[in-house]
Amino acid sequence: MSRRGLLIILSSPSGAGKSTLSRRLLEWDPTLSFSVSATTRDPRPGEVDGEHYHFLSEDQFKRDVAEHGMLEHAHVFGNFYGSPKAPVQAAIDQGRDVLFDIDWQGAQQIVNSALGAHTLSVFILPPSITELRRRLVSRGQDSDEVISKRMQKSWDEISHWGSYDYVLVNDDLDATFEHLKTIVTATRLRRLQQPDLMEHVRGLQTEFEELS
Ligand code: ADP
Ligand code: 5GP
Repeated sequence: MSRRGLLIILSSPSGAGKSTLSRRLLEWDPTLSFSVSATTRDPRPGEVDGEHYHFLSEDQFKRDVAEHGMLEHAHVFGNFYGSPKAPVQAAIDQGRDVLFDIDWQGAQQIVNSALGAHTLSVFILPPSITELRRRLVSRGQDSDEVISKRMQKSWDEISHWGSYDYVLVNDDLDATFEHLKTIVTATRLRRLQQPDLMEHVRGLQTEFEELS
């Protein structure tokens, strides 16, 4: 039976582990499509345009928003971020799930959109604030100033944990990933995600009537 594409949203304060968990999910299921966001921030070392982000000028970003090219968009850490609409629609039309690594503002916009009924939202919490800071430092990608800025914003992001479908405390990475796979598998089996169920039940009914 076919499946309707699911929009899987991961949010967390920066450093809690959503990129790591996203990478694992994509390795686990190569049919998952990752929504490559657009951003006006500068690329970090190693980040590839079109793979990690679409790096846009502010003018281009604003034009895309004005032309309704973004499914959602938000201002985070002084830069604009948004999810281009066309690739998401294409994946959903093919019955593929789409994975989003976006903040709470974007999550809320998608949940409240026409695609909201086909959304799974998961919030990742750190085991402690001390560990969150340790992870940001150990990732080695940001200056002290950027790390302080991310830490200051972390409470703002954490304060929205209550509006997500599921909340995972990412202490042990393997255990968190197991839970995430379980949640995705269960949500894929939701009645709404299985458009062919009605026809299957009709077939069962016909067979039932023929046999009785
Ligand atoms: P985010 O995408 O939420 O900003 P990352 O996935 O980049 O966070 O993780 C931040 C850092 O913490 C990375 O160096 C990553 O390897 C590490 N990390 C992620 N999850 C765990 C975990 N459960 N235990 C220890 N380190 C982790
Ligand atoms: P970073 O600069 O560390 O890659 O991302 C900073 C924050 O922006 C993270 O919380 C990330 O989830 C969020 N983000 C990344 N892409 C998008 C997007 O397309 N939309 C929204 N709303 N947030 C995004």
